[in-house]
Amino acid sequence: MFRMKRFLVVCMVGLFAAMALAGCGSDARDSASTSGSTASSSSDKVLRIGTNADFAPFEFQDANGSEYQGFDMDLIRAIAKEMGYKAEIQNLNFDGLIPALLSKNIDVAISGMTINDERQAKVLFSEPYYKSGLTIVVKMDNASINKFKDLEGKRVAVQIGTTSAEEVQKIPNVDAKEFNSSADTFMELKAGGVDAVVNDRPVNDYYIMKSGEKDVRVLDELLTSEDYGIAMGKENTELKKKIDDALTKLKQSGEYDKIYAKWFGEKK
Ligand code: GLN
Repeated sequence: MFRMKRFLVVCMVGLFAAMALAGCGSDARDSASTSGSTASSSSDKVLRIGTNADFAPFEFQDANGSEYQGFDMDLIRAIAKEMGYKAEIQNLNFDGLIPALLSKNIDVAISGMTINDERQAKVLFSEPYYKSGLTIVVKMDNASINKFKDLEGKRVAVQIGTTSAEEVQKIPNVDAKEFNSSADTFMELKAGGVDAVVNDRPVNDYYIMKSGEKDVRVLDELLTSEDYGIAMGKENTELKKKIDDALTKLKQSGEYDKIYAKWFGEKK
């Protein structure tokens, strides 16, 4: 009887050790940053995705903070599924996304991120997946700001590390105030801490529509034309190919259009 017990204990210890080894090996081995290096069943391949979930309607969390929602979130889940990967989403600061790619803590970043030269020097981008640009939001009763030129000498809220922050810096005598999220920039406008907010157009439009705010408005002028891309490590050419192929397939199958219509209505 005693021997039997000991035998069982030895078996169980062995089993736990094997499980632990399998568990810690799988992440590193199957994550997309080393994709292609080891064959494994598709179900345990993980795509580690970074986003700044404070940018509705592209990425945000529902009221109880449990689920990631938005156009980018639906798109990247569909891409991962198409590639045979499990999507694992992490919420990071926007200006922490590229550093997280460089340190290989994530495999891809999708966060309404504009493809530009400065970023392309550090990371690789997928083919463009969404066309955007910058607009201004002001209080309804602000009659002095009607175009970008009017921002000269004004207090303007922008999100840190974004193309808005970069563009606003070029305006003479501007008093740019930087915040961690687009939500914070809107709050500052409401609180009267700034005269205007500069942000990506779809984000400004969605804010006005969803919040039902009656005392703010978006100006028509579009300052830039920007393409969003999914960013990944510079060396990850194999992953880029997989992502671009998946994106093409989703466009061909009509899945991309479905996701687009869910968040923005039918394409004009
Ligand atoms: N499209 C802008 C940029 O890439 C803003 C992105 C964001 O705030 N999530 O800088």
